Amino acid sequence: MTGLISGIKRMEIHDGDGIRTTAFFKGCPLKCLWCHNPESISFAPQVAKFKEKCVSCGLCGERRDPGAAEACPTGALVLYGRTYTSDALVDELLRDEAFFRKSGGGVTLSGGECLAQPDFALETARKLRERNVSVFLDTCGFVPRSVLEAAAPLTDVFLYDVKAVDPAVHKACTGRDNALILENLVFLSEKGCSLEIRYPLVVGFNDGECEKIGAFLRPLRGIRRVKVLRYHPFAASRYEALEMENTLPAPLTQKRDVENAVRLLRRFGLPAEDGTAPGRP
Ligand code: SF4
Repeated sequence: MTGLISGIKRMEIHDGDGIRTTAFFKGCPLKCLWCHNPESISFAPQVAKFKEKCVSCGLCGERRDPGAAEACPTGALVLYGRTYTSDALVDELLRDEAFFRKSGGGVTLSGGECLAQPDFALETARKLRERNVSVFLDTCGFVPRSVLEAAAPLTDVFLYDVKAVDPAVHKACTGRDNALILENLVFLSEKGCSLEIRYPLVVGFNDGECEKIGAFLRPLRGIRRVKVLRYHPFAASRYEALEMENTLPAPLTQKRDVENAVRLLRRFGLPAEDGTAPGRP
């Protein structure tokens, strides 16, 4: 069984409990305007060119393919999308096993949408669980019910994105309807799964959804945390390097916007918190 991975991030402390290693699966069924992982949207391998790093050495032959990325000595060319077998991916992830054991961490399968490569993701999760490694699964929820049902027993915690409750707002922001996403969340809750909800707050786009999200989440069981994530435009250079249309919204979300959202969500009895990485202004 093979699959496509756009990147692996080690020593991650914002993708769940403890120190985690995150595997970013390539490809996503949504197209969020504010996506900060544009290299994970397409299901095909891509080579990005970061022009500011190019020293015009000519070793790439002015090509832009995986071989040229291997040859580039400065990191100006970056391949997003490497094929792994599930065994090779598990071996790669387990290089950090000692840190998982010491910190109560583990592996987070993310993306893109990891469950858009369902067989590969589930086999990887199963092999990690066989090694007693904690598996957190970061999902947009836009996946068939049968896939979520298969993922549930292999997953310690679902990191579940809720971007909007109003279908029109959701479609405008992500290109997709949200009925399946919300129904799947209720399904996981009723199944007794552990849930960490992620609400990416983008002022001018989905900030009006906060109370609707609170009302939707209030009756659900299994919610251990609701993280309000502050939108940032840090991915702009990757859109350019990938020659993708930059859809990042211009207005920035401020710390006080996140604090207000956290306050509102807490009024619904939810364990809401600011999920912004420490140190950000
Ligand atoms: S190999 Fe890299 S640094 Fe050299 S010309 Fe090509 S892109 Fe630029």
